[in-house]
Amino acid sequence: MGLGRSVFLTASNSRFLRERAPRYRFVRRAVTRFMPGEDATDGLQASEVMWREGVRTVFTKLGENVTSRTEAERVADHYVGLYPQIMERKLPATVSVKLTQLGLDFDPEFCFASVIRIIEASIAAAAAAEEPTPIVWIDMEASGYVDATLNLYRRARRAFANVGVCLQAYLHRTAADVESLLPLGPAIRLVKGAYQEPPSVAFRDKAEVDKNYYQLTKRMLAPDAREAGLQLAVATHDGRMIAQVCEYAAANDLKPAIEFQMLYGIQRAQQIRLAREGWRSTVLIAYGDYWFPWYMRRLAERPANVTFLLRNLF
Ligand SMILES: Cc1cc2nc3c(=O)[nH]c(=O)nc-3n(C[C@H](O)[C@H](O)[C@H](O)COP(=O)(O)OP(=O)(O)OC[C@H]3O[C@@H](n4cnc5c(N)ncnc54)[C@H](O)[C@@H]3O)c2cc1C
Repeated sequence: MGLGRSVFLTASNSRFLRERAPRYRFVRRAVTRFMPGEDATDGLQASEVMWREGVRTVFTKLGENVTSRTEAERVADHYVGLYPQIMERKLPATVSVKLTQLGLDFDPEFCFASVIRIIEASIAAAAAAEEPTPIVWIDMEASGYVDATLNLYRRARRAFANVGVCLQAYLHRTAADVESLLPLGPAIRLVKGAYQEPPSVAFRDKAEVDKNYYQLTKRMLAPDAREAGLQLAVATHDGRMIAQVCEYAAANDLKPAIEFQMLYGIQRAQQIRLAREGWRSTVLIAYGDYWFPWYMRRLAERPANVTFLLRNLF
């Protein structure tokens, strides 16, 4: 792991920095590259702009590891209230939730009930607006949460078809997790992984992560996975990987089986190009005032983004 990446991932866990850095205007200005604003309305407006270009949206309200039930309940209420707004605007959009923002740390049952409440809200709002039912996505957090996240996902998926989970290609365990999830007919968003993990659980070398990413993608596009009902979202900005996946999918008649997902503000031209070429292309739009750890993870992914941060300082 590069020193830059390690520094930013350490900073992402620092409470001291999280409380102080957002007070600086240049930091706030720099973060707008990755988020249209702090309110859901900012996100909805950005989503309308992207949909004019044929790009769909996944919304996420920034936050993690909440410590009180009231706070977790507020987050669930927020998502429940967002679906009618999405549907009224006829946006092909959905949400992605972080379980530790819904109380996983202190009450997993409450967290599960909140996820179910959000899924039910997505179904009800889509039915009322006569729109297709969207997939409610569950983010994957640091490796210590994988078992709890997948257990919760399995329960939710047994009850509802429209729920998906994120898996991280940097984890050694992910190939086995894919196999164990297959019988459920899961929706899986494959990412490389954004947290600081020890070599005992994660590949450190980028080439190894990339290789695993491509292998997992092909595994999830295999005939038995398709027959089981697996739906795949390839969530990466890696142009080479995207080209490889497109080539593989086109050669095997799998174009409709894949969705590409990227983050707001990164590779926008590529998001639009994919949509124009007939691929399902989706942007994840984040908003909210708890953006510091999330922003540090974006800097860790590409330390060159620091130049942009510094340019805002001057
Ligand atoms: C829709 C979506 C959902 C995600 N959900 C999760 C999740 O639930 N859990 C999780 O651990 N991770 C999640 N991630 C983050 C993911 O794990 C990676 O950290 C992130 O996508 C960067 O890796 P990459 O696949 O783009 O490839 P990389 O190999 O890191 O990058 C490839 C190229 O993409 C561009 N790029 C990548 N990141 C940036 C950036 N921050 N700024 C500018 N350019 C960039 C650069 O040109 C870079 O060379 C998500 C990512 C996406 C797109």
